[in-house]
Amino acid sequence: LTQKLEGIFKELRRRGKLTPADVDAVMREVRLALLEADVHYSVVKDFVARVRERAVGHEVSRALNPAQQVIKIVHEELIATLGEPARLNLSGPKPRVIMLVGLQGSGKTTAAAKLAAQLRSQGERVMLVAADPYRPAAIKQLQTLGERVGVPVYYESGVKPPQLVARAFEQAQKGGITVLIVDTAGRSQLDEALMDELRAITQKVTPNETLLVVDAMIGQEALNIATGFQQAIPLSGLMLTKMDGDARGGAAISIRAVTGVPIKYLGTGEALDALEAYDPRRLASRILGMGDVIGLIERAEAAYNEQEAQKQAERMLSGQFTLEDFAQQLRQIRKMGPLHQLLEMLPGGMGQMARAISPEEAERNLKITEAIINSMTKEERLHPEILNASRRRRIARGSGTDVQDVNRVLKQFRDAQRLFKTLQKTGGRGLSRLLG
Ligand code: GDP
Ligand code: MG
Repeated sequence: LTQKLEGIFKELRRRGKLTPADVDAVMREVRLALLEADVHYSVVKDFVARVRERAVGHEVSRALNPAQQVIKIVHEELIATLGEPARLNLSGPKPRVIMLVGLQGSGKTTAAAKLAAQLRSQGERVMLVAADPYRPAAIKQLQTLGERVGVPVYYESGVKPPQLVARAFEQAQKGGITVLIVDTAGRSQLDEALMDELRAITQKVTPNETLLVVDAMIGQEALNIATGFQQAIPLSGLMLTKMDGDARGGAAISIRAVTGVPIKYLGTGEALDALEAYDPRRLASRILGMGDVIGLIERAEAAYNEQEAQKQAERMLSGQFTLEDFAQQLRQIRKMGPLHQLLEMLPGGMGQMARAISPEEAERNLKITEAIINSMTKEERLHPEILNASRRRRIARGSGTDVQDVNRVLKQFRDAQRLFKTLQKTGGRGLSRLLG
């Protein structure tokens, strides 16, 4: 797939707007990539239509060719669809209740132990509840995991789950437990009795979080499972497990797009620390399966920005240089450092100055200088000669610095301006090569 795209990328850069043909050529590949990643076909259809609408007529960035531009839009749109990382809601009276629901084998019990370990390490006093009494092995499994992470497990035989959870809650309250994690039963498919039981639990204790645990390997079916659970009980978050396998995780997109339930965690292994907070950029790249292509696009943009910076430097050498340019140049120093390099190569005072300060000091100076220039009006930046004492005081206040700092920045600017004028006279041609 990546190879095909690279073929499309070979097309020359072009200015102007994206045409339907530009967009369609790439969207064919994107549609396949999403289906391969197990995104539900109805979601793929909507997504492709939305991106197409956004992309056709979109300005082609000068840094990218049209195909790259389309992929960039696809990636951004995927990130937007996946949504921001959402934190666990631990507000309200203690113990807060986190309930894990999902099909059998999805990874609930493992997830319960992973969450318990993580919350415990954050200073919570955690208790696990074994609310899956139908399979003795399930209780034993949670007890073993609880022991491994050093968290108590509540269980009573012969008590139905809603009652069991209510009793666990009471005991937790008495014992100063701050988070109660409820591991519920699952079936091999959606069934009403299970949903009734989950609803009955939520009537006994109100969960802070009801997390749906979904196995990333089950493919397109994940969407039906999520909507089934969502209809029965309100879900507050999604945990996608077994992301250490081959699955690209397209289920996350389907579930998020259709139910709106935020993605909260990824399970990435059987080990009890294999629990990741989810990162939309990373997940979007994985689902697209074009990680290297995204990297390629980012490198193309970075290279282009460098060219722009060089053009700006040449403009400085040609003599038009304002405080605005100065501020912009300073911002770019962080990224690439042409002014610094330039100063270092110079004989005399300024070169020594550039060499004398430490990187930390340079960074601090840069921040102060930026703050000061940002506090100036546009007019002041273009005509620094109007900066009288009262204006300088205002700028110092506005930037949280003092008047000496403002004076120092203005002196640096005048020095730089003078330097560029001199360079211009003494043959800036060699120097513009040096900047690149
Ligand atoms: P439950 O039936 O929903 O409680 O599922 P379990 O927690 O018992 O997990 C079912 C199986 O999947 C077990 O063998 C787990 O070790 C395994 N498992 C759970 N989460 C992950 C994961 O993130 N990655 C991998 N590779 N295996 C997992
Ligand atoms: Mg289980």
